[in-house]
Amino acid sequence: MTQRVRPRSALVASVLGSVLLAGIGGFAMFGTVGAPDTDPTTAEASGANSFSIPSPEGSASTLETRAVKVERGDTLMKLLTKNEVDRRDAHAAIEALTEVYDPRRMQIGQLFELSLEESADKPSLLSISFKADPVRTIQVHYTDDGAYKADVKEKALQRGDAFGAGTIRSSLYVAAVDAGIPVAVLHDMIRIFSFDVDFQRDIQKGDRFEVLYDEQRTGDGTLVRTGDITYAAMTLSGKELAYFRYTPKSGVTDYFNRKGQSVRKTLMRTPVNGARLSSGFGKRRHPILGFTKMHRGTDFAAPSGTPIMAAGDGVIDYIGRNGSYGKYIRVRHNSTYKTAYAHMSGFKRGLTKGARVKQGEVIGYIGTTGRSTGPHLHYEVLENGLQRNPMSVKLPAGEKLKGQELKRFAAVLPAMEQRIAVSRDDNTLVAAQSN
Ligand SMILES: [Zn+2]
Repeated sequence: MTQRVRPRSALVASVLGSVLLAGIGGFAMFGTVGAPDTDPTTAEASGANSFSIPSPEGSASTLETRAVKVERGDTLMKLLTKNEVDRRDAHAAIEALTEVYDPRRMQIGQLFELSLEESADKPSLLSISFKADPVRTIQVHYTDDGAYKADVKEKALQRGDAFGAGTIRSSLYVAAVDAGIPVAVLHDMIRIFSFDVDFQRDIQKGDRFEVLYDEQRTGDGTLVRTGDITYAAMTLSGKELAYFRYTPKSGVTDYFNRKGQSVRKTLMRTPVNGARLSSGFGKRRHPILGFTKMHRGTDFAAPSGTPIMAAGDGVIDYIGRNGSYGKYIRVRHNSTYKTAYAHMSGFKRGLTKGARVKQGEVIGYIGTTGRSTGPHLHYEVLENGLQRNPMSVKLPAGEKLKGQELKRFAAVLPAMEQRIAVSRDDNTLVAAQSN
């Protein structure tokens, strides 16, 4: 026995960051654990990160698992070749992985576990394992038929109710974020209310909101995704608007008030992403952006590039430059109503005259083209060709549930109200405890 082997403790320390999978047995058989000549100070002699143990057949081979962290500038290829994996093996493993995961999505700091078999000079790659996201664990492994194969394990998700509520002090956005409401949920909520609410002018200090939405968590409680809003309410200057998610027999899910009236109107009052509107109260008194006698529309001030939506289903009947309106789009909704959008920075790519647009579809972006003093949307509602104040024009209402459908809705409403009440109580309790 000529080989010097370090005591186990020193050995384990030297492969820090690597996990010894096999070889321990072999080590015990061939090693001289605890022998007086295994002074830890001589440990450096036997290499830094790996070691080899002669197998009974006499060929040198070790099995090793390495935990490696993704660093700035790493690609998966780089990460593997840095760990001395043969390029051909690395390429084949990455190709197998690509079927279930895009390696470009890997992030700095992400952990990959490589299982390597070190024989002769270069290690060959047995497997790569990593957590792709909170739900999925992926393993690419070398199979008996000589190829790499990717396996995905998914954690079971649990659906639950999440609730957020708040009082607006500076802006809806700030209040919603303070209440822990995810931005995606806030955007959905704003879209629900953009039929009724002019988000630039109707919001006052002290207005309140509530929202009940779906969320999915893993067994250990990690939030994975948020889903649909079940209920959303806003109390504006003391007047409550409340909407409940419901799917009628027609199959088209929508939001309805307690009387079964759909939130959907022919036209939206706020055809821009309400979260990005200039915050702060008293905007309506702004000398340029506020109403004047001659002003034939409504202005929404928001940063350049904020998406503008079609206020209703219709057909584009004008798209292009239009004098002081700058870049301008007009949509014909029916024989009575048209809407117009001015001062845009640009149009949605591919949009042409005669194109059909859906309500809520992005048609262009806020800008300051034409006679304009800053980025804003000038929005007009035209009734039989005449400009109407979009905020006071009586918009035709959407579907109202009737007969059996209304009965069905009325029957599911109490269960929803109950869920809201339970979530509201829990939320109040948590808020009180954290104060
Ligand atoms: Zn204007």
